[in-house]
Amino acid sequence: MARYIFITGGVVSSLGKGIAAASLASLFKLRGYQVSLQKLDPYINLDPGTMSPFQHGEVYVTEDGAETDLDLGHYERFVGIRMSQNSNVTAGRVYSSVIKKEREGKYLGSTVQVIPHVTDEIKRLIKKGSNGADISFVEVGGTVGDIESLPFLEAIRQLNMEMNDSHTLFIHLTLLPKVDVTNEIKTKPTQHSVKELRSIGIQPDVLLCRAKNTIDDNIKNKISLFTNVDRKAVFSAQDAKSIYEIPIYYKNQNIDEYILKKLKVPHKKSVIKPWVTFTNKLKKCSRKVKIGMIGKYVDLADSYKSLNESLLHASVYNNNSLEIDFIDSEDITKKNIKRLKNLQGIVVPGGFGNRGVEGKILAANFARVNHIPYFGICLGMQISVIEFARNILGFKNANSTEFDLKTPFPVISLVTEWDDYKKGRLKGSIRQLGGTMRLGAQSCTLVKKSLAHSLYKKNIISERHRHRYEVNNKFVDDFNDTDLLFSGYSGDKVLMEVLEIRHHPWYLASQFHPEFTSSPLKGHPLFNSFIKTAYETK
Ligand code: GLN
Repeated sequence: MARYIFITGGVVSSLGKGIAAASLASLFKLRGYQVSLQKLDPYINLDPGTMSPFQHGEVYVTEDGAETDLDLGHYERFVGIRMSQNSNVTAGRVYSSVIKKEREGKYLGSTVQVIPHVTDEIKRLIKKGSNGADISFVEVGGTVGDIESLPFLEAIRQLNMEMNDSHTLFIHLTLLPKVDVTNEIKTKPTQHSVKELRSIGIQPDVLLCRAKNTIDDNIKNKISLFTNVDRKAVFSAQDAKSIYEIPIYYKNQNIDEYILKKLKVPHKKSVIKPWVTFTNKLKKCSRKVKIGMIGKYVDLADSYKSLNESLLHASVYNNNSLEIDFIDSEDITKKNIKRLKNLQGIVVPGGFGNRGVEGKILAANFARVNHIPYFGICLGMQISVIEFARNILGFKNANSTEFDLKTPFPVISLVTEWDDYKKGRLKGSIRQLGGTMRLGAQSCTLVKKSLAHSLYKKNIISERHRHRYEVNNKFVDDFNDTDLLFSGYSGDKVLMEVLEIRHHPWYLASQFHPEFTSSPLKGHPLFNSFIKTAYETK
């Protein structure tokens, strides 16, 4: 029978529960257990798809097209398993499903309540998310004490009560702040946070204590005494230089051994080599490579989480040490564009809305003309098409209809607008933002002898999408016999998926998001090659 490990967080948010869950799951996966991971998010949005990246960080897209929390990206990267629609459960989804059932009369006349109806629905979704795994890791978003988290905590309390004791385990990640004046580590917030958990019927089995450094035995004894947690189950979760060292830190304290004994599952041998190899290589990378990220959400690094990680994976793959220069595209003008000269590579990431678009077009132009390696992703590809149409094809004011509905050359537009353009009556047809995008993995045919084909070494690839607009098929022929090659397409050459510029050291842009499938141990063919060329050309 499946075992469930629930991970909660206390004291403050952003302690890294997602990375803790991913690191632990990775240790069990490497031992040979089948693991699953799931994130429960207590907010009312159905999914984070409509949230601003400033609020929520990146929206991670799964293979089957779910728009999810960025923690799912950590899960995939650390554990190497595929997440799905069932891997991220929000309060919004739970409530909408309960209300739907109520409308269908499924509750047979009863008053629909948080307990048992909402908690039953949460339990159902947790079991569904486990998907037959030996060990399921379930991360509860938010911080213990939040009003929103209560139904979720109540649901996992019930699961623990319903299952045999060795089938569930509660891990609580908590913070041990240090008071600088006295140089003292404080355990009181942790005591309170555990007290809060216990007051709702959850006694944590394991404590992971976030602190700058490892914590000593005195502190562990004290925490154990006040929280009723086994002294041997109080572990350090010290700050790490790289998140990829965390599985090793956990392994060194034998946290996974402790959990295995508690869960009473047949023992399998520990394997840690992949993480040791990767982190040793990471530490030795000294050949600096400087990449400029020309985005609009540059003040919050989490907005481009997967992209940052992919660039790092590729840098380690090439023995480079990565420096990302986050540049706000709104600050880029014709006058100051030369500041991009000292970059070894330029990335224009995905994005939505008008703000900062002209700066990105200038950056794409600068990279193309000055032979600086350029990688455009999703919006970054649309930017390349607009730039090339304006400056090489002479399509004055070419644009995407996302930014200018009156453009005479809508080289990027909604598919539903392609015919409207022919008839000269573009009107823009988005009424609803949620659930109206091309989402998830789709296949793409690569053109033989192209750069993309030489890197993927495949005729057909599959990558994940998240966008509404497309290269307007009515203009594709205008690019024939130019240096711009559409080297990947889907369907019967209907949708353009990859473009590259000939006679350039490295200029490639994709309509899909390759960053969602990069892994620390292998990188990703496009990123690996981009970083290699960026380093070698300058
Ligand atoms: N805003 C563009 C679109 O919707 C690009 C989206 C993206 O970069 N993810 O097509």
